[in-house]
Amino acid sequence: MKSRAPVQDQTNWSKPQGCRASDPTLHRLVLFTDLDGTLLEATTYQFDAARPALARLRGQAIPVVICTSKTRAEVEALRKKLGNHDPFIVENGGALYIPDGYFKSTPAGSIIRDGYRVIEMGVPYSRLQEGLRFIERQVGMSLVGFGDMTVEDIAKATGLSLQDAELARQREYDEPFLIEHTHLWRRSVRRAAQRLGLTVIPGGRFFHLVGGTDKGRACRVLIDLYRKEWGSVFTAAIGDSLNDLPMLEVVDWPFLVERPWGGHAEGIALEGLTRLQGIGPAGWAEGVDKLLRPSPFQPDPFIFHPFPFTY
Ligand SMILES: [Mg+2]
Repeated sequence: MKSRAPVQDQTNWSKPQGCRASDPTLHRLVLFTDLDGTLLEATTYQFDAARPALARLRGQAIPVVICTSKTRAEVEALRKKLGNHDPFIVENGGALYIPDGYFKSTPAGSIIRDGYRVIEMGVPYSRLQEGLRFIERQVGMSLVGFGDMTVEDIAKATGLSLQDAELARQREYDEPFLIEHTHLWRRSVRRAAQRLGLTVIPGGRFFHLVGGTDKGRACRVLIDLYRKEWGSVFTAAIGDSLNDLPMLEVVDWPFLVERPWGGHAEGIALEGLTRLQGIGPAGWAEGVDKLLRPSPFQPDPFIFHPFPFTY
């Protein structure tokens, strides 16, 4: 497993004007990002519009932490395409994967698995599947989860290729499922889940049944690890929908991209939230541009000196 050398004493970054962090001292920047509908286009899963922004971040050694409802198998395939070597959060905060050796000290509560330090926060998938059956009985209607679907069904419902649908089906901490009918049903499904100590999170296409975690909790754990390593850290996050709210809540500068049909997700009211004018990856690129824009208090462009990589 290739891993990044421990990092320290990097060139600092100063917050741009307009973001909500009150402390103007210098920081290292960490960017969290959702995938579907944010870095990735909602239907084609392409990210061409974000490529130059990704290159800028890479050139300045700014970590880009994927925080998604996707599975580890899906994220690993995407990280290869992106050339990403940073920690990542899967299945709506179900687990945090940190390349072994990324941080100098061993993350507390982590287990070693396949070259990663893994911090598990969600409940096991088998319990979620049992939970979905319980909820079905409680609300008296059929709920179709990924576990009930063939790879072909998932490909059809998501627009993923068969190969990618197979990766999406390898779930560990989050069961996506479909609810038809009305808001009334949704409420009763939520209540039935709560009785089991589980949570229903609305996603882009599916609802997600998870337990004990959300994206924000996992982000917070990782932010603490960065702070332990680097001292001062400035955090930003880019999302597109309500399931990103917990992630957006825990960072210094939250961004929302536009939805595929235009406009921004409703129900997200946060201090300092920047609504970007661009759909998916186009908005994402605009967000990075704002993040890296020099502050008027320090007119020279900020330059991050890439730290040594040992891949
Ligand atoms: Mg999304």
